[in-house]
Amino acid sequence: MTVYNFAAGPATLPDQVITQIQSELPSLRGTGMSIMEISHRSALFDDIINTAQQDLRDLMSIPDDYEVLFFQGGGTGQFAAVPMNLATKHHRIALLDSGHWAAKAGAEAENLGYQVDTLASTKATHYDRLPARTSTLPTDTYDYLHICTNNTIEGTAYHDLPQTNGTPLIGDMSSNIMAQHYNVSDFDLIFAGVQKNLGPAGVTLVIVKKSLIKKVDHIPSVFNYQLFAKKNSMPNTPPVFNIYATGLTLKWLKKIGGIEAMEALNKKKSSLLYDFLDQSKLFNNPVKHADRSLTNVPFMTGDPKTDQAAIDDLTAHGLLNLKGHRSVGGLRASLYNAMPFEGVQALVNELYHFEKNL
Ligand code: PMP
Repeated sequence: MTVYNFAAGPATLPDQVITQIQSELPSLRGTGMSIMEISHRSALFDDIINTAQQDLRDLMSIPDDYEVLFFQGGGTGQFAAVPMNLATKHHRIALLDSGHWAAKAGAEAENLGYQVDTLASTKATHYDRLPARTSTLPTDTYDYLHICTNNTIEGTAYHDLPQTNGTPLIGDMSSNIMAQHYNVSDFDLIFAGVQKNLGPAGVTLVIVKKSLIKKVDHIPSVFNYQLFAKKNSMPNTPPVFNIYATGLTLKWLKKIGGIEAMEALNKKKSSLLYDFLDQSKLFNNPVKHADRSLTNVPFMTGDPKTDQAAIDDLTAHGLLNLKGHRSVGGLRASLYNAMPFEGVQALVNELYHFEKNL
């Protein structure tokens, strides 16, 4: 039985990448050693990390005045690292509360002693839409505005970015990096864990405008942007395997046409599912149409028992990891880059049968 993995992250990776890892594992490029055994202080790894950086630059058209850095610590690590590195003038951050992960970023900054002003929130409507674009932000008040470009749990995404009136814009792109096109230069910093669209868990990308990187005292070295920029992301041991595997996925992305091709495919995949849900009398996607995500689609019947029966039925047909997040309930299909169109076709076919036979 063909298995399709709709997990929200870690998530499905391209078959070609898995096969390449498998074939290269015993001896990488004729060294007689696996990627897991080589030094990060080797010419071989320098080539791997530099190539991954360059491929990221090519794929996202990252301008030269941005650094591309690799961290550990996940998106959650960056919830702390971003304020520690950037909120140095006002110690005050603006936030658009679009869901669980935006709120978490705010809570972490607050916990570290920064003032966080939530400019707008859609919590009252269970984050079924993006918060209304705010009126003009005051100048020279906030160190930055934080947004989450794609809300993994609630299934909303920014297709247009909010105006910031000169305030730096920070994007948590963990769940839609390279799944749809954004202009890097519209952001001052983008961060993303790679474990959804780009690789195995363990690498967090930070793409940051060089002019924002400053010397900051009394922060952990492993979160110090200036130090990571100076040391090519290797002031200490980086996640060697994970950077290698991410590099392979970037090559795969380049080969199949880059972000433009991915976005077209992701639109096709998500439309197939949304079209089914919109005509279904059983399942419902609660998200405002204009704000719907291309990568995460929550849906439910309104009855937890029927939701579970649907999950069980799908699982029996090799359609896996469709349980919704506990805060939303129901089901959720994550349609990241490596999910083929055929996977979504199989999902929609089975949902159709489930509804028909109920
Ligand atoms: N931001 C978003 C949008 C996420 O989806 C997640 C994880 N699902 C995180 C941040 C947290 O990432 P991590 O688990 O890598 O800390």
